[in-house]
Amino acid sequence: MRTTADLREGFLSFFEEKGHVRRPSASVIPTADDPTTLFIVAGMQPMKRWFLGLEPAAAPRLTTAQKVVRAGGKQNDLDDVGLTNRHLCFYEMLGNFSFGDYFKDGAVDYAWEFVTERMQLDPERLWATIFAGDPELALGEDEVASKAWDKYLPRERILGLPRSENFWQAADTGPCGPCSELYYDRGRKYGCGRPDCAPGCECERYLEFWNLVFMEFDLAEDGTLTPLPQQNIDTGMGLERAAMLLQEAHSFAEIDILQPLLDWIGERANAAYGSTDEATKAYRVVVEHARTAAFLVAEGVAPSNEGRGYVLRRVIRRAVQFGRRLGLEPPFLYELADVVRGQMGSVYPELEERRGEVGALIQGEEERFRETLARGEKLFEEVVAKGEIAPEDAFRLHDTYGFPWELTKELAAERGLEVNEEEFTRLMEEQRERSRQGSAFEVDIKISAGAARSEFVGYERTDVLTAILAYADLGDGTFQAKLERSPFYPEGGGQVSDAGYIENEETGARAELLKATRLEDDQVLTFQGEGFGEGIRVRAVVPWSVRFSTTANHTATHLLHKALRDLLGEHVKQAGSAVRPDKLRFDFTHPQALTPDERERVEHAVNQVVFQNRPVRAFVTPIEEARNLGAMMLFGEKYGHEVRVVEVDDYSRELCGGTHVRSTAEIGPFVILSEGSVGSGTRRIEAVTAGEAFALLHERSREADALREELAETRKQSKRESRSATADIVYREESGDLVVAEVKAVKGSALRDLSDQIRQTKNALAVLLGSVDDGRVYLVVNVDPSLVEQGVDAVAIVREAAKKIGGGGGGRPTLAEAGGKNPAGLSEAYEVGKSEIASALG
Ligand code: ATP
Ligand code: MG
Repeated sequence: MRTTADLREGFLSFFEEKGHVRRPSASVIPTADDPTTLFIVAGMQPMKRWFLGLEPAAAPRLTTAQKVVRAGGKQNDLDDVGLTNRHLCFYEMLGNFSFGDYFKDGAVDYAWEFVTERMQLDPERLWATIFAGDPELALGEDEVASKAWDKYLPRERILGLPRSENFWQAADTGPCGPCSELYYDRGRKYGCGRPDCAPGCECERYLEFWNLVFMEFDLAEDGTLTPLPQQNIDTGMGLERAAMLLQEAHSFAEIDILQPLLDWIGERANAAYGSTDEATKAYRVVVEHARTAAFLVAEGVAPSNEGRGYVLRRVIRRAVQFGRRLGLEPPFLYELADVVRGQMGSVYPELEERRGEVGALIQGEEERFRETLARGEKLFEEVVAKGEIAPEDAFRLHDTYGFPWELTKELAAERGLEVNEEEFTRLMEEQRERSRQGSAFEVDIKISAGAARSEFVGYERTDVLTAILAYADLGDGTFQAKLERSPFYPEGGGQVSDAGYIENEETGARAELLKATRLEDDQVLTFQGEGFGEGIRVRAVVPWSVRFSTTANHTATHLLHKALRDLLGEHVKQAGSAVRPDKLRFDFTHPQALTPDERERVEHAVNQVVFQNRPVRAFVTPIEEARNLGAMMLFGEKYGHEVRVVEVDDYSRELCGGTHVRSTAEIGPFVILSEGSVGSGTRRIEAVTAGEAFALLHERSREADALREELAETRKQSKRESRSATADIVYREESGDLVVAEVKAVKGSALRDLSDQIRQTKNALAVLLGSVDDGRVYLVVNVDPSLVEQGVDAVAIVREAAKKIGGGGGGRPTLAEAGGKNPAGLSEAYEVGKSEIASALG
């Protein structure tokens, strides 16, 4: 036993020999009636109801290889991936389970037999741990487990460990019990060298690879234990960890099924695996996360900002981050995910079935992240140059630039810097509070109240000569000022503050505008720069490109508002908006999600008005007059006597103080990015216009071309395959209802399809079809449903036959397949298959 595939199969068949029924892995997404975890974290979890005695178990003894993901909950190993040699986020857990059947002695006996006789691990290097007892749980040391191990191990290699290590529970409540873990001593070279290093130590010397859980209690919310109706066994062996032992792999990334991923990276990276600790860590992270991402998407998870989607997003983003340290530029992970499919697709067919989605979703997320990173990293470097990372800076990176907090933390740690997490969390809270109240970011106003009023000229001008009316030094090279005439739009009405600068007319000194703040009908400007003071004459400039994108987005927001009311109804009310240079956001009341059709019609309606190139005007008028004109006003907003109305010719009128285009064609294409919920009855649309929209459309059309090409190529390929396959069939036997045939170099779905085809053309009730491809043997058993009714099971037959070709298999009762490594056994496999069918039919 050496390969991971052998180990998986060897484990399951060993326990089958011991009377256990083999079951397939459940989905890694828990069923709706189990809200305790985000993902399946252990093999026992899908069987929870059986452990609790709520339902009778499928059989008293079961065995499975279960997909698990430990991230985003109490069982969270995501951040350990890369740091240690042994932690994965997604892995397979092998397990044997007993429901009121054998208990501690049986579990220990089987475990010992399997590891010493099948895995042939050195018994001298094996250790066991047991539960040492816990006063809070009112439990003493697990003497029964200790006695069970006495048969095999000397006393000094049986260790008692506390509750934190040796009392198992999947969640805060539910089935649980003391456990006993198997460790393997990998040798001094893996160790930390401390004199007290032993199993349970955090270093890599003693590897925990199997946990035997003696499930006998139900843990209630208040922490009390109730004995379960029966005593059960639940064990979990990490497949990858056990494979590390068999293959003497230094880390999980080097085991046979993951090595091809390492190789793939190695061919593209600028540093070799093992060349430095940093590189090695990055390789491990990328390998692991490529696989986790592939499986999560295959299970139907899509990247998002909450729950499972957020875990997927973090996994992809973390992989990209570490990949870049190796010189891999995103998108690359989606290609690596395809290598995963190549390695594991035969065991987990969902990887094959969802192949297109896996590629597309991972690639899309990588691209979004690439843009975020480019912006954020530049800023991070500027921040780090100051020698420390203020929580305010970390917050700004996160809030304004979408740079992940985890990344800031990680990058900071790499440079030996720390960020005050408490303070960061507080800022996040404040931000949440602010956005709830809808108020703008407050700047401490230092300008004296008596100063004269500033005149805003920004509707007409973005470049003016003027003078500083009032000045206050804030220290740190920043100051506040009021200008006689200002082109700077102060944040308000959903539109962000302008960016720009002032220039000292005499000296040429420049100061960058940090923020323009509204003070009723006045404004105060905060700048970074030196060489200014009261009375100094300056040139004030808003770069046109910055102003223009915001302006286009603002007018587009009005068009969107009107289009939504026209198409969905008058109940649509604006609930908030954010107009920025890069995109616009519009929140509105509407009871349900937009259908794809509605979304398209809204987008279309806005573009319609854009292409009609309608003039846009703004005028100031008494509020009664604005009301008579039917201008849209925001509920709950206080307006003065005179109001400003922005009018899109013959289309919409809205009270608004923002900056707008002169005619709608300036907006350019309008593209909706997303539509989603932001609380009950409130929806949010995000959209882009002008240059951003064009770039997006361009990208989409490129993707569509690539997809179309790929589709055409796949079609051609499958035509070629089926043509050549039909040509090469060799019929070995056609006796009545049974056909045995062989074909060269066909596998997977093509081989399955071919078996269907043969069964139809030959009008057969059963087909055994074999194929040899690249040294591997494949076998398909295809039977008519009428035979299944008579008790024939293609899965059972293929498994029996697979023994002859040195492999294993699975499938459905009508169609099952197997793969193996022994082409010489194919003839024998046919014979086994034939006699199995015959005997099943009696
Ligand atoms: P560790 O202390 O090493 O994190 P654990 O105590 O969390 O392990 P269990 O919850 O007992 O582990 O899980 C059962 C088995 O699953 C372990 O004995 C180990 O073989 C494997 N395992 C646990 N966590 C991981 C992981 N992150 N990656 C790979 N295998 C794991
Ligand atoms: Mg753990």
